[in-house]
Amino acid sequence: MVISRMSTTTVNNPDCIFCQIATGAIPATVVADDGELMAFPDIHPRAPVHLIIIPKAHVMRSVAEMTDDQTALLGRMIALAKKLAEEKGIADDGYRLVFNVRHHGGQEVDHVHLHLLGGQPLGPLG
Ligand code: 5GP
Ligand code: ZN
Repeated sequence: MVISRMSTTTVNNPDCIFCQIATGAIPATVVADDGELMAFPDIHPRAPVHLIIIPKAHVMRSVAEMTDDQTALLGRMIALAKKLAEEKGIADDGYRLVFNVRHHGGQEVDHVHLHLLGGQPLGPLG
């Protein structure tokens, strides 16, 4: 079932870039898809490894909208990032996980997502 109204319970928002990637309407190189979560390379990578991890459903625009019953979902996103970092061979040297939140956080796509960056020293934040 596809619901197009904008709310935190929206399953799919046809105007959302990441929803379109989740449905395959916008192509991406899928590096993980377990039915609930999906990962793909950022189109403008800021590091040798730069993946985006999303819930396939449009469950919240950002962490700012997270409800208590969604904390486990974000935990599973972090666990997938950890697994992908190991698979990409960047875990031993280290990496960065980033949730950008709203305007001041630099968020461009209003579908909650986790950046996994690594493959070289990233320097201090900012
Ligand atoms: P934000 O700034 O919202 O945290 O991150 C959104 C990210 O999505 C940006 O780093 C941007 O490069 C990436 N992005 C935007 N559009 C697309 C797209 O169509 N495909 C992919 N793979 N990444 C995208
Ligand atoms: Zn979306």
